[in-house]
Amino acid sequence: KLYNEVQDMKGSIRVYCRIRPFLPGQSQNQTTVEFVGDNGELIVNNPLKQGNESCKLFKFNKVFCTSATQEEIYADIQPLIPSVLDGYNVCIFAYGQTGSGKTYTMSGPSLSSKSNWGVNYRALHDLFQISQSRRGSIIYEVGVQMVEIYNEVVRKSASMVYLDLLTIGIWNTAQPNGLVVPDASLHSVNSMKDVLELMNIGQMNRATSVTALNERSSRSHSVLTVHVRGTDLGTSTILRSCLHLVDLAGSERVDRSEATGDRLKEAQHINKSLSALGDVIFALAQKSQHVPYRNSKLTQLLQSSLGGQAKTLMFVQLNPDVASYSETISTLNFAKRVS
Ligand code: ADP
Ligand code: MG
Repeated sequence: KLYNEVQDMKGSIRVYCRIRPFLPGQSQNQTTVEFVGDNGELIVNNPLKQGNESCKLFKFNKVFCTSATQEEIYADIQPLIPSVLDGYNVCIFAYGQTGSGKTYTMSGPSLSSKSNWGVNYRALHDLFQISQSRRGSIIYEVGVQMVEIYNEVVRKSASMVYLDLLTIGIWNTAQPNGLVVPDASLHSVNSMKDVLELMNIGQMNRATSVTALNERSSRSHSVLTVHVRGTDLGTSTILRSCLHLVDLAGSERVDRSEATGDRLKEAQHINKSLSALGDVIFALAQKSQHVPYRNSKLTQLLQSSLGGQAKTLMFVQLNPDVASYSETISTLNFAKRVS
């Protein structure tokens, strides 16, 4: 069954919605979001209206309610990981306003709590395990790269290459579409421990202080790319694929009357790149002849894993608080357009 599901995902986008719980200390205001059973439906209530007008219905491939664990979330996307090793390009990204749980879903609350690991670490962990279990028939080389896109500038935060057995080689880290990421330095890695170290370096490189990290991480896109090259020992054929794991910048709209200078510039860049992402996915969903990949650095970077035979999965993250109502609706409208 899972296999069929993966087949269905070929060349299409799946949309999963995740509602984060109220946080300790957050006033347990009446929630705007109602979860409706197991069929991917979701009702959102407008706190200012009553009767029929007050609620809107949305439908996605799946809705995860506030009690969903990291493990449950991953169980649903796990079949995508072996398909990366079969040669498919895969892109998993999280969209939503700041504070809606994007980083929690993609990375988790902290590296040290393994049971709360997010999609990134679980996916890499599986990727290493599966590549090793296939060692008798295919030799895999895996390169990992972390990139940040801030104000339409792409910056590498960390990179490494995992060379299986005795393969010797250095990779060209240019993306297939010619987007070169500067500062390519490659370290060889052998285990998940090295990956964790790399992720730490990547995080540290994103900013110097914790507050700066939080501040800035909400305004930059963080892209973890895993490049895979597999050599089939029987036929000597080589397969290449990549997995993109993306923690997008916060989608909240910035009040134009209040934002000025740097803040306004950041907001404009984020707005532009998220719209470009929406336009690309919309064009793909419409099977349009022209897919506007070139309108932002983000869509250029992700091009190989959006469209064609690639499998794309979007997490739509929601904050349940009534105060977030209008952002929730705008997030859901973005998701509706591309699903
Ligand atoms: P974002 O990256 O969208 O800005 P975060 O992932 O940083 O949001 O989440 C905001 C806060 O909510 C963090 O303190 C995070 O630990 C917490 N949080 C998010 N999702 C969950 C969840 N599913 N369970 C428990 N806490 C969560
Ligand atoms: Mg975040």
